[in-house]
Amino acid sequence: MKRSQLFIKTQKDAPADEVAKNAQLLIRAGFVYKVMAGVYAYTPLGIRVVENIKQIVREEMNAINSGELIMTALQRPDTWQETGRWDDEAVDVWFKTKLKDESPLGLAWSHEEAIVEMMKQHVSSYKDLPQSVYQFQTKFRNELRSKSGIMRGREFVMKDMYSVHTTSDDCDTYYDAAIEAYKRVFDRLGIGDKTFVTFASGGAFTKFSHEFQTICDAGEDTLYVNADQTVAVNEEVLDDATKELGIDKTELKPVTSAEVGNIFKFGTEKSEKMDFMYTDKDGSRKPLYLASYGIGITRVMGVIAEMMSDDKGLVWTPSIAPFQVYLATIGDVDEQAQNLYESLQQAGVSVLYDDRDVRPGDKFADADLMGIPLRIVLSPKTLDKDSVEFKLRTQSEAEMVKTSDINHKLVEILKKD
Ligand code: ATP
Ligand code: MG
Repeated sequence: MKRSQLFIKTQKDAPADEVAKNAQLLIRAGFVYKVMAGVYAYTPLGIRVVENIKQIVREEMNAINSGELIMTALQRPDTWQETGRWDDEAVDVWFKTKLKDESPLGLAWSHEEAIVEMMKQHVSSYKDLPQSVYQFQTKFRNELRSKSGIMRGREFVMKDMYSVHTTSDDCDTYYDAAIEAYKRVFDRLGIGDKTFVTFASGGAFTKFSHEFQTICDAGEDTLYVNADQTVAVNEEVLDDATKELGIDKTELKPVTSAEVGNIFKFGTEKSEKMDFMYTDKDGSRKPLYLASYGIGITRVMGVIAEMMSDDKGLVWTPSIAPFQVYLATIGDVDEQAQNLYESLQQAGVSVLYDDRDVRPGDKFADADLMGIPLRIVLSPKTLDKDSVEFKLRTQSEAEMVKTSDINHKLVEILKKD
């Protein structure tokens, strides 16, 4: 894409009302636009990052045989009344609205009950099972506080997956496969080494649910981790979990973290409440085993913006960067830059070509602020040597690369995962 076609203007200063670093940076660099507290729009730059994160998650969910679908943002009250969760006392984050005839509707804060309701139409025999489905959807939550930028939105994108099984064992096996898939996701996103599977409260069936917590100063949670980082427990279940694991609480040290994912087993509890049954081989009717698996897509983007940024701006990894290359020029080399822009695109490299008539320093500042992994600069000086200048966002020094070596060199440094 050409920079002149990107409507975005970067900003020197962060908006005064924004306290979260992720939102300050993402707004300054032109990735998000703040509509109101906890409500952000994503620009052409921002949506590319969101889509790249989604694609990694999509590939890993497909790999464990889950089928992508999309539910609706508007929901029927009766679906939630079956489990008592339409009640504001039970769920305090609902945004509710009404049709013209005054009948109530809800804006989806979750899709657990909605998915079960839909699957009831299709899944009725042991022959139909097991099943797993997932979606990327907007969730609406009337959060009390929303000061963490896109890490806590009142409107945000979640990946939610649901699996259905005839036996507890089958559910356990799938659940374990989902944990491994989640680990691959966080590795590919570049935060695997800082992300832990933790024991958390809230399991309806087993005592604990599992959360994926990423060590991050801007997080809202506290995690207790042992020295070799093999055990991680949420603060809220510390006593229970350490007792269960047979470890001494004092061996675990607190760190600040952000919840990027949460997975639950429901056992048959929800199915029984919602009459989600199947007919077994012997003709008997039995309730199904359910589990759900969430990842906060936009929260993950915020966490990465927080963790990987520096004083010049964002620092994306190639796997989720909006563009892999920021192409800039010094002096009158437009024709050569245009040729390189085209040939890089033909080679499958995503390029943001800064074709604006502005000072080179401004182009470089934007390349850094936007966090594009590789900056390539052309000038009469570099072209005299049949070369261009390469600079990784993570390095301070540029290096000269022969024009004939560009493709080879790119493959080496932009390895996607
Ligand atoms: P939290 O404890 O942070 O409020 P939660 O336990 O209510 O989150 P879940 O219902 O388990 O969240 O949702 C699945 C995932 O969606 C979470 O692990 C988190 O990554 C993300 N998420 C939850 N609430 C928000 C929000 N308000 N903004 C952005 N992402 C969110
Ligand atoms: Mg949670």
